[in-house]
Amino acid sequence: MIKVFNATELKTLALEQQSSPCTNCSTHNFSCWETILSTFDRTAIKMVGTLQIPDAPENWDEYHPNGTDQWSPNAPIAVMYHPYNSSDVYQCQTCQTVYLRYTEYGGYYVDERIRVVKPELIVDEK
Ligand SMILES: [Zn+2]
Repeated sequence: MIKVFNATELKTLALEQQSSPCTNCSTHNFSCWETILSTFDRTAIKMVGTLQIPDAPENWDEYHPNGTDQWSPNAPIAVMYHPYNSSDVYQCQTCQTVYLRYTEYGGYYVDERIRVVKPELIVDEK
């Protein structure tokens, strides 16, 4: 059974991350959604849960009350909104940095994306 995180639980997890990230985490800036680079060691992060609520109605809306967009480093992490509601939760096994990952399916491509979870950006909007 995969654990489904709510906003509060995600924030608690994200607060575990150490102030100085490990080399793998510190050499990649995933402060906004980015394609996972091949230089990033994916085996160093482990899936610990998901934000995908089973049988939840689809929601493709994004949440940007302050004029951000999906690519903004300060965009809110709104767990009920796209693409967070399609994301899984990963944690670095070395420095406990928390990441979200989801797969973008375009017409001719599949793009695996990642974003680091900054606890102060998590919002609990419905
Ligand atoms: Zn790390």
